[in-house]
Amino acid sequence: MTREDFKNAKFIDIHAHRQLEQQDTVIIYSFAPGLNELPPKKTLFSAGIHPWNMNEIDISESFLQITSLSKNQELRFIGESGLDSSIEIPLSEQENLFLKHFELSESTKLPLIIHCVRQLSRLLEIRNKRRPRSSWIIHDFNGNQQMIEQCLREGSNKIYFSLGPRFFKSPHSKIANSLKSLPLDRVFFETDDQEEINVKMIYEEFAKRNQIEISSLKEQVIKNYKAL
Ligand SMILES: [Zn+2]
Repeated sequence: MTREDFKNAKFIDIHAHRQLEQQDTVIIYSFAPGLNELPPKKTLFSAGIHPWNMNEIDISESFLQITSLSKNQELRFIGESGLDSSIEIPLSEQENLFLKHFELSESTKLPLIIHCVRQLSRLLEIRNKRRPRSSWIIHDFNGNQQMIEQCLREGSNKIYFSLGPRFFKSPHSKIANSLKSLPLDRVFFETDDQEEINVKMIYEEFAKRNQIEISSLKEQVIKNYKAL
């Protein structure tokens, strides 16, 4: 999807690793230097180094590339970047790299798209200390009511929740059971790295569970995107 297509779009896939051509969907392609290809011109994208890939690429070279892309009009988010306590890479190293993304997000005023596994409290500590001006989107969010409330208490600028495969595929996940705690003006949807689902399916599931019209959900998400 290109910038021009955005105004006619119905659905937004805020975080996708593949560019699946879909007429009625804006896809924000997740570019990972050293691991996948830069998208064709005019494609909206994010750029970042995922903690899982820290040992697979040259980090300083990749980060330089991300920094130079930040002049590109189609770059819409910094990330994904984040903290993950389920992997071997020491959290201190992950955090150093996350903070570089954080600083870039602040200096470019682009929202930060965050990967977070069992590190929400640490993320919120960082946030409290550094008081970002750019918005944060926690992608494939899987938190319970208490975690959602913690995020919502974070003042000044906003934390958004992007719901993806976790929510869609696991009806008993924390997030699937906490939908009522999510304000609609803080939600996005994504397919992440899943090929067999599209974002419409995720919108539909969310709309069904919340008993809202798909059309008003689409409008709300476009509003949320503009508010970023
Ligand atoms: Zn991802």
